[in-house]
Amino acid sequence: MTEDGSRSNKTRITPFTAMWPGLEQAWDLSCTGRVEAALALAQKVHEEAVAADDQVVRASAASHLGWYCFMQGYYEEGLLHVLSACDFYNALGDRPRESWSRGIHAWLLIEVGSPNEALDEAMRALELAEIAQEERAICFALNVVGVVFWMLGSLDRAQEFAGRAVVLARSIGDPVDLARWLINLADIEALVWKQSRETTSLDRIIGLAEEALQLTRETGDAWASRLVICSLTEYRLLAGELVAAADILAEWDEVEGGSGTRSRIYYLYARGKLEMAARTLPDATRTLTECVTLTAEVSDFEIGVPACELLSEAWAATGDFAEALTWHREFHARYVRKHTETALIRSRVAAIQYETRHLQARVEAERSRADGLEEMNSALAQEAAVLMSASMEDVLTGLPNRRGLERALLALGGHTAIAYAVGMIDLDHFKQVNDSFSHAVGDEVLRQVASLLRVGTRGRDRLFRYGGEEFVLLVEGADTVMAARTCHRICQLMRNWDWSRIHPRLQVRLSIGIAHAEECASPAEVMALADERLYQAKNAGRDRVVMHGPVMREPSLTQSPRFH
Ligand code: GH3
Ligand code: MG
Ligand code: MG
Repeated sequence: MTEDGSRSNKTRITPFTAMWPGLEQAWDLSCTGRVEAALALAQKVHEEAVAADDQVVRASAASHLGWYCFMQGYYEEGLLHVLSACDFYNALGDRPRESWSRGIHAWLLIEVGSPNEALDEAMRALELAEIAQEERAICFALNVVGVVFWMLGSLDRAQEFAGRAVVLARSIGDPVDLARWLINLADIEALVWKQSRETTSLDRIIGLAEEALQLTRETGDAWASRLVICSLTEYRLLAGELVAAADILAEWDEVEGGSGTRSRIYYLYARGKLEMAARTLPDATRTLTECVTLTAEVSDFEIGVPACELLSEAWAATGDFAEALTWHREFHARYVRKHTETALIRSRVAAIQYETRHLQARVEAERSRADGLEEMNSALAQEAAVLMSASMEDVLTGLPNRRGLERALLALGGHTAIAYAVGMIDLDHFKQVNDSFSHAVGDEVLRQVASLLRVGTRGRDRLFRYGGEEFVLLVEGADTVMAARTCHRICQLMRNWDWSRIHPRLQVRLSIGIAHAEECASPAEVMALADERLYQAKNAGRDRVVMHGPVMREPSLTQSPRFH
């Protein structure tokens, strides 16, 4: 302890990494017994964070508030705070802090009589801490799991976990934590000792508590000092060491700082026990009367119930059986109320959890609205893809257009190993169709030609409407002969088709020029060569396929009239 009563910084380890100045100060206050001051300060930080809409500080302040509320016995308020912190850290994926918050949540759940829910939370806290490999969080969670097992009456497990927490706290080297977890371990072992005196000894238990007391003196942790003084008093009484018990309890008044109601209740109960053991019965009845009054004021049943029973015994020992009966009745009434009250508190806790989850659901709804925007984005992206493909499709015939062809050729150009042939197809004297019959008939002819092209091609053949009355056939992996065979088949289909279905005097023919990738250095050259051969076909009288002709030896892109 330094002169101003605060612990030296050397011993202070705050929970996990960054803390905000106000919370750091609050933590320090809580570790030096000034829990009410810590609570007030954390409350202030919380309010400021709410006003500034700073979620990070708010969650941190909420988890601190949860812990200080636990220390002071304001369980329901603590639950409200810590639940919001749990949800926040969960959403953030901050495992160490979520673990710490869940540990506090578990502890508060124990206090309000929900040990099963507490066990789930404590286990979750431990799991999160272990995943995060955060030693202080693991240590805290181990201790909470131990406490939950203790409350569930599973003492061997309680002893195991609380023991592990102590070992870890020792290796971490934080005397505040170590002292607190030692106090719990000693309490658990004292219960074990009462049941079976073989597995542990009172000497060991007193040793644990003495060590804890020494540490709390060094750190100035008045809150824990008071707790362990009461525990030690009881252990000394169990050992029949009345004087030692009185000596240790006398230290309670010397502990600095305010004590808080919960702490005073523990003290009065311990003192009542001591006075009973010392047979100073009038003192015992006075002390225990104060104790039962205080417990009634704050609805504490944990000590309130056994304190009434002890007070009844004290009156009986004095021979005042009327008072003894009164307090026995009170004991019974409080015992019954404890269970009703526990049920009530549980339902209030459920309401708190509902409220918090309800808020959480609203946050989720907000988030899913954001997700909705994301969905909308992906819908837009899909739409864009549709538009993209639409931009590559010819509306009249449904065939991919010239842009589609360019893409296909580029893709093939990237794979030089893939052989392909191109057939440039052009309708013969198509202008006359439009002129003689109408543009509408011309359109119908174009659609019908596209259908016949589809019929005449197969497998890996791909068709494009290149523009106007021109189409392109792209045959992947084909040699010129195979491509020519397809083109001849197409010409044949045109000749055989009954065009009178569109117009009585209609006749449609087409000419095709074929070029093979092997003949050229680039897709542009292939197209140019096919185009050239198409004109040869036209010049040779139309309605035919040309697959041989001058090979462009030194072509360049500027020579390609149709592919740019
Ligand atoms: P050639 O045998 O030499 O190819 O003679 P052609 O008449 O087929 O060639 P030209 O290039 O002189 O005429 C092509 C015609 O195709 C002109 C244009 O009106 C017509 N055309 C182009 N696109 C369409 C279309 O989408 N619908 C209709 N109905 N006609 C079109
Ligand atoms: Mg033309
Ligand atoms: Mg034409």
